[in-house]
Amino acid sequence: MSFVCPGCSCLCDDIEIVDGRILHACRRGEEIFEKYKENRAKPMVKGKEVDIDSAIEEATEVLKDSKNTVIYGMDTTTVEAQQLGIELAEKLNAYIDDNSSFCLGEFVEAILRKELPTTTLEDVRDRAYVMVYWGANPFHSLSRHMSRYSYYPRGAKRPRGYEEDRFLVVVDVRRSETAKLAKKNAKFIQVDNDDELVDSFFKVMEGKAAKYAKEAGIILNEMKKSDLNVIFGGLGLKYGLKDLGKFVEMVRKMNEVAPLYFIPAGFHANMRGFNETLFEKTGYVNKYSFKDGKGDVDFAFTSLLQNGKVDTAVIIGTDPVSSLPYDVASKLKEVKTIVIDPRMSPTARVADIIIPSAVSGIEMGGTMVRSDGARIKLEVIEERDVNDIYILKKIEEGL
Ligand code: SF4
Repeated sequence: MSFVCPGCSCLCDDIEIVDGRILHACRRGEEIFEKYKENRAKPMVKGKEVDIDSAIEEATEVLKDSKNTVIYGMDTTTVEAQQLGIELAEKLNAYIDDNSSFCLGEFVEAILRKELPTTTLEDVRDRAYVMVYWGANPFHSLSRHMSRYSYYPRGAKRPRGYEEDRFLVVVDVRRSETAKLAKKNAKFIQVDNDDELVDSFFKVMEGKAAKYAKEAGIILNEMKKSDLNVIFGGLGLKYGLKDLGKFVEMVRKMNEVAPLYFIPAGFHANMRGFNETLFEKTGYVNKYSFKDGKGDVDFAFTSLLQNGKVDTAVIIGTDPVSSLPYDVASKLKEVKTIVIDPRMSPTARVADIIIPSAVSGIEMGGTMVRSDGARIKLEVIEERDVNDIYILKKIEEGL
C-alpha cells in the first residue's frame, strides 16, 4: 500500500512503509512519517491542561464573545476541513486568510481566473522540454519535484530525460543548488530585477535590444522545439516582480511563440486547496472578510494584527510565531489566540487555548490539492477521532 506524503505541495503518492522503514520519501517526508508522534500538543486553557472537550467548549465561548475574529492557516489540513473552516468564518462574520497571502496566492488566483495557462505535473513529466524554475529552489523547498515530475524523469514523449530531452532554465538572484545543475542543455540567468527579464522577453519578441536579449532569445528558440514548456514560479518570483500583470501578459505573449504554461512552485502541502476552496465560495483566494463581503490587502492576517483590527485569532495548522516577523507575531499577545494543531508549535506555546488535532495524511484522511491543481486522496496510517473536522464541527455546533 502507498501513502501520500503531506510534507509539501508535491504530495508524493508513492511512499511505502516496509518493516518500519519509510521508502521513497525525501528527508523532510521521512521525518514526517517517523516523528509524527513527537512534540504533540495537549489540550490547554490559559496554561492549564484540560480535557479536549473543555478546550473546545472554552474556544466556542471565546468566539461567541468575539467582535472581530480572524481564522488563519489551514494550509496543512484537508480540503474537507478547509470547507468547515470557511463555513465557520462565514458564521462568525470573520476574516479568513492563509500563508498564501505572502506566498503564491496571487499566482494561483491568476490561474483560477484563467489568466495564466496551466497544466499538470504528469503532462510536464511526459512532454515538457523547456522548464524554467523562476525564483524557486526545489533542491530545498520541493525536494522530489525535479526527480518525479520535471527534469530527471523519462517521460512518454521525453524518453531520454534530462540528458537530451529537457532544457533547464534557472532564474535566481544567486547561484542556488538548483542553478548549479544548469550546465549542459541549460541556462542559469542571474537577475537582480525580475521585471527586467520580463521586459527583455517582450523586447526580444518585438525584435528590439534588451538587457537579457541573448538569454531570452535562446529560451524562445528552444521553446519552439516543444508543444509543452513550463515556468515553475516560486517565492523569489513573487518578491522579485513589481508587476504581476506584466508577467501574466508576458506568458500570454510567449504562447504566440510556443505553448508555455505556469505552475506555482509553492511549499505548504495544501495551500492551493485553501485557495481553490475559498475561491469557489467567495471569488477570492485569501485575505477575505465575510463582514465586508470582499477580499482586500487590508484583510491579510499580518495587516489585521498590525492594525489592531481583530480581538481573536483562530490559527489552524500553521505557526506564525516561527514564520512571521517578530513585530507582527508579537501582536498575537494582544488578542485571544486559539490554536488548533497536532504539534506543540511555538505559536501553540503562546496561545490562550490549544486544541490538539490529528496529522492530516497520517492520522486523518481526505483530499489535498497539489501545486498543479490535481486532487490527491490521502491514506491514513493510524486514524485519530479528534481531528480538524471533529473540532471545527463541534465549535460550529456550539456557537
Ligand atoms: S518532496 Fe514533499 S511530498 Fe515528496 S516526500 Fe518530500 S516532503 Fe514529502
